[in-house]
Amino acid sequence: MAIQLTPKEQGLFEEAKAFALKNLAPISADFENGNKLPKKVFELLSHHGYCGLLISQELGGQGLNFLESALIYEGLAHGCGTIAFMLQLHNNITYEIATYYATSEAVNTLVPDMVTGKKLTAFALTEESSGSDAASIQSYAEQKEDGYHIHGKKSWIANALDADYFNVIVKKESSNRDMLMLLVEKDTAGFTIGENKPRMGGNGLSCCDLTFHDCLVPKDRLLSENGFKEALRAIDVARIFVPAIAIGIASRAIDMTVTYLGKRIAFNKPIISNQGVKWALAQLSAEVEAGRWLVYHTASLMDSGDTVAIKAAMNKLFAVDLAMKVTTQCLQLFGANGYHKHSAIGRYMTFAKLLQIIDGTSEIQKIVIGRALERKVRPS
Ligand SMILES: Cc1cc2nc3c(=O)[nH]c(=O)nc-3n(C[C@H](O)[C@H](O)[C@H](O)COP(=O)(O)OP(=O)(O)OC[C@H]3O[C@@H](n4cnc5c(N)ncnc54)[C@H](O)[C@@H]3O)c2cc1C
Repeated sequence: MAIQLTPKEQGLFEEAKAFALKNLAPISADFENGNKLPKKVFELLSHHGYCGLLISQELGGQGLNFLESALIYEGLAHGCGTIAFMLQLHNNITYEIATYYATSEAVNTLVPDMVTGKKLTAFALTEESSGSDAASIQSYAEQKEDGYHIHGKKSWIANALDADYFNVIVKKESSNRDMLMLLVEKDTAGFTIGENKPRMGGNGLSCCDLTFHDCLVPKDRLLSENGFKEALRAIDVARIFVPAIAIGIASRAIDMTVTYLGKRIAFNKPIISNQGVKWALAQLSAEVEAGRWLVYHTASLMDSGDTVAIKAAMNKLFAVDLAMKVTTQCLQLFGANGYHKHSAIGRYMTFAKLLQIIDGTSEIQKIVIGRALERKVRPS
């Protein structure tokens, strides 16, 4: 097996990067600062074929595999990490919904509008008292004659203000450990969306708490009886694409820093001409290249149907921590201009911090990897 990208794969990356630098970079500051842009951005992304990457062409998608999709997210992140993140979140949920409804008529009524970005989605697992320990959620659904009645609250749900459909994980009855995955429509009685939480960055993507007060969901909106397992499977997919985005922003941060230091003069010469500066950037570039190939490898494993949970955790841990390291060091190299409230490198740094928290914190990735190591000597 040749370990290199095919011309088609390389082309997907290059096209996405060029598209993002031309179309997303100019709106990135506005997007990060919270101006209402998500629907417009989805129209733009859809028009250029970036919605429904994993969805079959019969359902209006692009029919791409995980590696091809990862390359596109990496390319898009060069223009705006948060927009790339928002897209992969929606695309992943749409893919999950298309998979659960594969044999039902609902796939034809629900999925095509999601694929084009006309209808947007969100994923609701986290609660105020259970983030990393997701198995300890308290919200639950009672199964009755007329459907599922949901009670409880969700916290920190991305895209909440723009989503039309919410993929919600709840316990099956209050005392039960089993979990359900239910699809909830935004205007359902008993379902309310809270205020947008102000954040350090990425404010164009809304993020709210959700409240369910005896919210009735029809029986055919049950996506899975095995909600927790399915949620973990969905998170494994995010642990391929989020690292791809992390590598995209790290790579872009280095490009921006090299350009800046090539022009910035100190002590009568461009700052880049100092060996110490070049060595620092060389080290970061080598690490980004290593992280990039870990992403491609993990995505390829997913394409071949392998179990990727441990590799995906390594991928997430390595790439997002690297993005944090790269953006922090690059900001330092921008000096005061990096610290400006509206600097692009500052936006990349705060976004890298977010990536260390969502879809399982870096500590949680270490727990997953560490448990696998322990099992080698102490099989459970
Ligand atoms: C902008 C944003 C968007 C989000 N979007 C979504 C979304 O769309 N849907 C959704 O369901 N959730 C979402 N989340 C929530 C996110 O998934 C959680 O924040 C994340 O899982 C961490 O949970 P927590 O914040 O409750 O941290 P906690 O679980 O309270 O952890 C606090 C700290 O302790 C560490 N820690 C916890 N347990 C251990 C341990 N055993 N050993 C060592 N360290 C440990 C953690 O790593 C962390 O550093 C979002 C969060 C943010 C910030």
